Order: sequence, then structure tokens, then C-alpha cells
Amino acid sequence: MAGMFVGVHPLAGFDKVLHYQVPEPMIADVQLGALVRVPVGRTLRLGIVGEIGAPKDFPLDKLKALAQVLHPFPALPPDLLGLARWMTGYYAAPLDGIIETMIPVAVRNGAGLKQEKQLAIGQRLSGEEFTALEKRAPQQARLYKFIEQQFRPQKKSLVLSRLELTAAVSNALVKRGVLLEATQRIERVAYVDDHSRGELVAAQPPTLNAEQLTAVAAVTARLATGKFGVSLLHGVTGSGKTEVYLHAIDTVLKAGCGVAFLVPEVALTPQTVARLRSRLEAIAPGNKCVVWHSHLSEGERLDGWLALATGEARVVVGARSAVFAPVQNLRLIVVDEEHEPAYKQDETPRYHGRDVAVMRAKLCGAVCLLGSATPSLESFHNAQVGRYQLLELKQRVDDRKLPHIDVVDMKIEVMKQRGLTTLSRKLVDAMHARLERREQTILFINRRGYSSSMLCTKCGHTEECPHCSITMTYHRSDETLRCHLCNAQRAAPTRCPACGAPEIRWRGLGTQRVEEAVRRVLPRARLERMDTDTMVKKNRFREILGDFRLGKIDVLIGTQMIGKGLDFPNVTLVGLIDADISMHIPDFRANERTFQLLVQVAGRAGRGDRAGEVVVQTFTPQAEAIQFSRHADFTGFAAAELKLRKDFNYPPYRHLIHHLFRGPNPEKLKFFAEQWAKLVEKTFGARVELRGPSPCPIEKIKDEYRWQIWYFVAGVTPVIGELSKLRSEFAWPDDLTQVIDVDPVSLM
Ligand code: ADP
Ligand code: ZN
Repeated sequence: MAGMFVGVHPLAGFDKVLHYQVPEPMIADVQLGALVRVPVGRTLRLGIVGEIGAPKDFPLDKLKALAQVLHPFPALPPDLLGLARWMTGYYAAPLDGIIETMIPVAVRNGAGLKQEKQLAIGQRLSGEEFTALEKRAPQQARLYKFIEQQFRPQKKSLVLSRLELTAAVSNALVKRGVLLEATQRIERVAYVDDHSRGELVAAQPPTLNAEQLTAVAAVTARLATGKFGVSLLHGVTGSGKTEVYLHAIDTVLKAGCGVAFLVPEVALTPQTVARLRSRLEAIAPGNKCVVWHSHLSEGERLDGWLALATGEARVVVGARSAVFAPVQNLRLIVVDEEHEPAYKQDETPRYHGRDVAVMRAKLCGAVCLLGSATPSLESFHNAQVGRYQLLELKQRVDDRKLPHIDVVDMKIEVMKQRGLTTLSRKLVDAMHARLERREQTILFINRRGYSSSMLCTKCGHTEECPHCSITMTYHRSDETLRCHLCNAQRAAPTRCPACGAPEIRWRGLGTQRVEEAVRRVLPRARLERMDTDTMVKKNRFREILGDFRLGKIDVLIGTQMIGKGLDFPNVTLVGLIDADISMHIPDFRANERTFQLLVQVAGRAGRGDRAGEVVVQTFTPQAEAIQFSRHADFTGFAAAELKLRKDFNYPPYRHLIHHLFRGPNPEKLKFFAEQWAKLVEKTFGARVELRGPSPCPIEKIKDEYRWQIWYFVAGVTPVIGELSKLRSEFAWPDDLTQVIDVDPVSLM
């Protein structure tokens, strides 16, 4: 039989390829990666064309026909289709779920280039009018209310199907003028941001310094080869990494190609976005820059997606998921702050935005530019062994000095002030001085949450697992200390094993405690606190930062969320209240996280003309993470830390795969986890080094118990497929849920 045949990956819970024949009129539009509707059983489903050609072992005349091709261009261009396939294999996640992650809901819902009818409010109803309508025509009232709550026009078909209403309902309202119906695609321009317009800095680019020039030349040379490559830009805070990115982007845009620029979600502040947009638009006037993050409405995302897919826009700036944006002719992917754990998605598919960026670059022959002041040890290692090109910016622009870091030993402070204290004398004095000079202070508190490790406030001792070199976790239920990697355990001490003092149970401080302490010592200072509790209102964040910039706040207190990418010239003092918390999380990356935090925090001080000062409070001042950060000595830190990683077989020398077991019955979990572990040991032998099973550091969440196994492997791909297969054949009980996480960024 002649004609065209395609293999389709149906979405929504189908993990196989089904074949169809293509009706004559659709042939012109069908291509690899096209989004199509196909009959499956008695329903129509969305799917992606994954292959072109007839099936080998199926009678062609029995094949059903494609029902619809949604766009005249592929929703998943070949590089993204290839990327989806790679992700399936690497992250052991179903392909349909990955494709759904890649294509925005609105696109999958069938919205496309066709001009869609939209509904908007024509005339607002008063309270009485609405009540009357509700009585008379409840369906109309429901529709009105829905549209009114959306703040922007809505696609008619989508709204009606969502509310399960007929067109008659909307027609009635349109007739009365209460609703408006428009046929135009109404642009929801996600890239115009009114709030940030005011703070646009001059778009005039600075003259690059020698180090920046060298880095730009290296990246440009790479781009000129037209081949895949990864460059790691390691530049101290304030060294002007963004300028390097912008010059590389400039080169790519001038060549008529596309760019993806990834930043951690938290860094997507109006400030950075505005800065980038103004610069990008200055580079190539008329260039639209699509912004892409999790707070967009589906409509905004659809517009951005369409603009990129059709080549109308060539740049996307966004968080993790922007790595899937359908940028045409993608030649450059920038991953700023590549060390950020926020790049890892913590639900299926559990992918790492940076690693996926590198893979996508590989698939389309692009350059991937990773940047950070504190590169992840994985990336740094890749640079050391020559897989990545290392570019360094060692100086701050204008030779501004890195701030002076004072490390305060809180053990001594406890003795001096006769008891546990929140603020050291040094920090209090420094804050006083700032207040007098009308300069500003930021106080950082380590992320709250986990504090189930033990730390002696007399001598700074913590209990570590001798096999795994991570802090042991205190389990209140049975008064034990456990290593949640290898499950070594012992009775929890009541006195410090090193010095015999009873002060072994120490917890971190909340932002509120710190605020109270500051109020006591600086009653006249204007304080503001920023943490997840106070930030429930979306705009509060902006307001506070705005006030801080205008000098209406003297001391800003908050968690790491205020540390990212902010540039306040009048901040000359930064205090870190409790460096210990991150250092003693039971994770082999505890040191790395602490070092990163310290360097980033220090980078917030002294960005203006005045030199900055940083005060770090800790019970363990001798710790390497702290000592190396005093001189922002990343290379020294990395050397020491990599040695430790190598000794204990941690990444980057091994990959870790986390296997979580959840369920209501802890005994059963333990039993099945142990059975499974035996099977894995037998099947894989030395190819997989197993640790556990052990209870998770957080043993129970929402009435479910949690156990885990860690697999240490040399390479993920050689084992993950086999592991998944073994897992799908194992007789798991119904009330046990498992999750596999490849390359987790946190052991918590
Ligand atoms: P980083 O990301 O490395 O911390 P930024 O890219 O944010 O640093 O740059 C810090 C500041 O220095 C910005 O305000 C930037 O405009 C400015 N800057 C960058 N390069 C130069 C330069 N060559 N000369 C003067 N100022 C520069
Ligand atoms: Zn251990």
C-alpha cells in the first residue's frame, strides 16, 4: 500500500509507539516531532510523531488514520525529540511525561497559530446585578465570574470546555455586552514588566577588561567552529560574567541564530530580567526576548512558545524549563549560577537543567556556557580533566576589593556573653557603625528546616559517620544517631563525646529570633524581614527590595533568597548568623553548599565604591569551607574537597542514584527494601555499590514512612535501564511507592 505512515508516541500514560497512516491532505504538514491527534481505542489522543515510515509487522491496510496535525511546524524539533529520548533513558522516566514537560499545556490543548476566539469582560456587573444573574442564569453567572477572575482575555473553547458550558451561555452574555468576544490573538507580552522599567540601568555597555576580553574571545572562537562544546566561566562575584554572556549572545544573534539563557528561578528578579532585556534589545533592535518561568499564565507561555517556535523570537530567558523552549537554530545555551541546586526538578521527570542543557547543546551542535563564582565540583572536575574549557575571571571589575571576612568563633562568644547568643559583639558593633554612617546591612540566616544533627556549642564537635564522612542524623523516636547513607547507628549521646559538655543539642535560629535580637541592640534601626513566612504576598518581595534600594531600610534580615543576584551599592556589611547549619546537614555536599553560601553572601557586600565587610558566625571556625571562603579561594577549596570526594567515592567520581520507598507500614518497607537490595546485589555485583537500605533522615512525611537505598555507579546509562526493568518485574506490595532519582542534588 502506498502513502505515508508514521509512528506516534501518544501522550498521557502511554509508553509505546503506535502506527498510523497519514491522509493525503495532511502529508504536507506531517514531520518528525509534529503534534498530532490520533485515535487510540475509542478516544482521540495527542501524540508526537516519533518516526516516519511503515511498521514492520503490521498489516498496513488495518492501520487507522491520523486525525489532525496541530501545527505546520514540529512542536518538538529533532533536537528536542532526541533530548526527550535521552532523558527517558538517563532519568528512568516515561517518555510521555517528559514530552508533556517539554510542551506547555496550552500548546497541547491544541492552541496554535489559528486565530482563536477569546472572551473578555465587556462590562463589569455590580454586586446586585451579579446576584440577579446568579438567580436567573446560574451558568452565565459562573462563566462571568470565571472570566472576571482571570484579569486577561481567555480562549473561548478552552473556558467553555473547562466549565462544561455550551456556546449558548457565552453568546447570551456577549449579546448583552457583558462579555466581549474577539477573534484576534491577543498578545500577552510576558516580557514587558512595568515595575522594573523605572530601574533600567543605562544600556550602554561597559568596556571589557582584559580578562573579560580573553573569555569572550575563547567563547567566540568556539562558536565559530559550529561544533558542540562546553565552557565553564568561573568568575569571582562582581567580575562581570554577565558582560561575557552578553557578548557571546550578541555574536550568535548577529549570525541569525538562537539563544537560551537559563538562570535559577529565584534569580528571575525583575531587576535581572530588565537588565538583560534592555541589553539584548540594544544588541539587535527589534529582538524579542521571551521570558519563561513557572509563574507565567498558560496564555503567556503559549505566546512565548509560539514566538520561539515560529522564529519570531530568537532568545529565551528563563528558569530550568526554558531549556526545552523551541528556540530555532539554537547555537548557545548559557547556564548562569550553574551550581544552583534549583536547576534540579524535584518531581518526575527529575532532570537537572544544567545537565540537560549540556546534552541539548550536544544534540544540536551548540555551545553551552556555564557560569558561576563557585562552580559545582562536577563541572569543575569536568574542566580539570579537559572535557570542558575553563575560563576564569579572577578580578572584580574596576579592581574593587573583595570584602574582608571576619570569622567569629561563637564558642568564645558563648563564654564571653555567658550563654547562647544570637549576635556576636563584633557584628553588633559593625551594625552600629553602619547605622551611624547611614550605610546598610544585610543579615543572612541559613535556610531553616533541618536541624536534626548534633553540635556541641562548647567545643564545636559533631558526630560523623566514619564510613561516609557525613554528619549523623539524630532520630528522636529511638534516641539513636544514624548515618542515612550506610545505616550505621549508635545510641545518641547525652553529653558531647569529645569534651563531655551537655550542650550537644543545638538548633538553628529562625529569622524572627534574629529580628528580635537586632531590635534589642539597635532600637532605632529600620528593620525588615524577608522569609517565606513574610513573603506570602507576591509583591511584598519587590516592595521590600524597592524600599531597601531607596535607603528606607537600614537592616534587611532574611534567608538565602535575598542573596541572589542583587546589587545594592550602599550595603557595606553582611552578616551570616549561623554558618553551621549548612555545614552539618547530613550530606556530602554540606561543605560545598557552605562554601557557596559564604562566597555568594560575601559577594553582596561592597559592590559600590566603599569596601565591604562580612561577619561570619560559627561554632567551627576551623572548617575548610569557612577558611577557604575567607580568601574566596575556590581552587584551594575544590582541591581539598575533591580529594575527600574521591576517598569516599562521591560525585564527581561516582554517580549517585537514590531509590526511595514510601508506605504506611515501616516493617513492610524495611522488608521489601532489604529483599530488593539483595536482588540488586546479586544482579549487578560490583557494577553497583549499594548503601542502605536505611530510614530517610526525615523518617515520616504525611503519615508515610520512608526508607531508601543509594546506588553508587560509575556511569548511569550502563545500569539504569537494567535497574528499571528489574524493578518493573519485582513483586512490590500495593501500598509501597518508589521513586528513583538520578544525580540527586540533595541527600535529604
Ligand atoms: P558577576 O555576575 O560576575 O557577579 P556582573 O556581571 O553582575 O558580575 O557585573 C557586576 C557589575 O559590574 C555590573 O554592574 C556590570 O554592569 C559591571 N561591569 C561589568 N563589566 C564591567 C567592565 N568591564 N567595566 C565596568 N563595569 C563593568
Ligand atoms: Zn555511613
